[in-house]
Amino acid sequence: MNWVDSHCHLDLYGAPDEIVREIEQGRVYTIAVTNLPSRFRIVNKKVVGLKYVRAALGLHPKLAGEHYSELPAFRELLEQTRYVGEVGLDGTDRGGVDWNRQIRVFEQIVDYCAQARGKILTVHSRRAEGEVLDILGTDFPGKVIMHWYSGSISSLERAIENGFFFSVNPAMVRSKRGRELIARIPKDRILTETDGPFVKVGHRVARPLDVQLSLRGIASLWQVSKDDARKLVWSNFRRILGSS
Ligand code: MN
Repeated sequence: MNWVDSHCHLDLYGAPDEIVREIEQGRVYTIAVTNLPSRFRIVNKKVVGLKYVRAALGLHPKLAGEHYSELPAFRELLEQTRYVGEVGLDGTDRGGVDWNRQIRVFEQIVDYCAQARGKILTVHSRRAEGEVLDILGTDFPGKVIMHWYSGSISSLERAIENGFFFSVNPAMVRSKRGRELIARIPKDRILTETDGPFVKVGHRVARPLDVQLSLRGIASLWQVSKDDARKLVWSNFRRILGSS
């Protein structure tokens, strides 16, 4: 049984090699998301031969406007990996010129992934969960992990209905709203993530083994042991991978 960090920005740490050592020694199965196809090329080369890290091809919604031109590269690289992220929509600046581009980019990405089938997506949906769910649709032919979900209860229920998973990070279990949402997620849909180095733990940035803090929070909400929470997360992750 391993730990799971389904959303970690490995390439954005000051010393990524040190993080890789922790991952491999600590046996943290890690999806290393990237924010641009050009970054994926680099990260994907770096993780060759590692047992616990997989590189995900991404085009972050906050960069989609400026880096729209990387969409053809995204399409081309998609066959190199099963993992896609960070992708999605960010509705914090809907008035901005990039909002429409964000939507077009995400629609295209979902379309490419649907054509390819079997991809595992880690999806950003801050203040745009309704649009994200509309674009993904009800029968997306792959697996969807809603990363750091922070939207409405009704959209959460819609995402559950659609068969999506949810990855929980240490910042989510610290917040009252985060805990309210986690309590509504079925046990067979929960995963852990750090979103490091963006999430902080005390005065430092979160590292993959900090998924233990997510597990502690999940365990206390569900009133199960930390070990049982870990088993649930591991079996959910295996189900996503298709090995059980
Ligand atoms: Mn992220």
